[in-house]
Amino acid sequence: MLKGKVAVVTGGTRGIGYAIVKLYLENGAKVALFGSRQETVDKALASLKEENAEWEVIGDCPDLSDDKAVAAAIDKVKAAYGKIDILVNNAGISDSTPIDNYTAEQFTKVMNLNVNAIMNAVMPTVKIMKEQGGGCIINTSSMVSICGQTSGVAYPTSKSAVNGLTWSLARELGPSNIRVNAVAPGITRTDMVAALPDQVIQPLIQRIPLHRVGEPEDVANAFLFLASDMASYVTGEVLSVDGAMRT
Ligand code: NAD
Repeated sequence: MLKGKVAVVTGGTRGIGYAIVKLYLENGAKVALFGSRQETVDKALASLKEENAEWEVIGDCPDLSDDKAVAAAIDKVKAAYGKIDILVNNAGISDSTPIDNYTAEQFTKVMNLNVNAIMNAVMPTVKIMKEQGGGCIINTSSMVSICGQTSGVAYPTSKSAVNGLTWSLARELGPSNIRVNAVAPGITRTDMVAALPDQVIQPLIQRIPLHRVGEPEDVANAFLFLASDMASYVTGEVLSVDGAMRT
């Protein structure tokens, strides 16, 4: 579904991002994955090469809060693969700090990675996509962008901002043939969720109409659809992949 395409995936070293990278490679794309540390980037690249030595995948670890570092990393991908068709802004941190314990620094830290870092990757990539006549951007939002959560107000706030950014960029970039969408996962079995004790996870599962948590692959499938030509008329969409838990 992605033969001949080039994708950049931030937060691609584990969890949902790693599942996206793997699915994109399986579908014929060349992929550049970004992670937070060289060590985890190398580990992810080794594990992908072990799966299939033919896959064309490279990695980098720019500080996503540094616009110049991100722009340089995006330029390196263009130099390596000649173009960028797909940008997946997936890196993110969650937060469950109760309001009484919040600091301005904590709020800013979450907003910086979950929102500002997306713009740092979008700005240089849009220039490349405009030059080449189009592309697509997919952001990772969250179910809580729609319904909120009981503590850690920065996280749903940041993800609601991701939705706003997605809708607005879709309007602004549509005339340049750049589609912009988001995926809003529900509870997904990544390291963070796997670490939760059974007495926490079981009541949550009862609240999910499909009676199970999502797998990273469930979420990656939505990223594949949105990146593919099958979604050629889909833009400005926030696609929920949450087993209807938000309802
Ligand atoms: P994860 O913690 O397993 O992976 C997060 C990724 O982001 C990692 O690859 C990590 O390297 C990267 N990252 C974190 N901090 C970074 C930083 N400062 N600089 C660069 N990269 C950084 O998380 P996940 O569960 O796979 O989450 C991926 C995305 O999905 C996030 O945006 C998250 O908010 C969103 N999400 C997750 C769930 C869930 O239940 N797991 C639900 C809804 C939304």
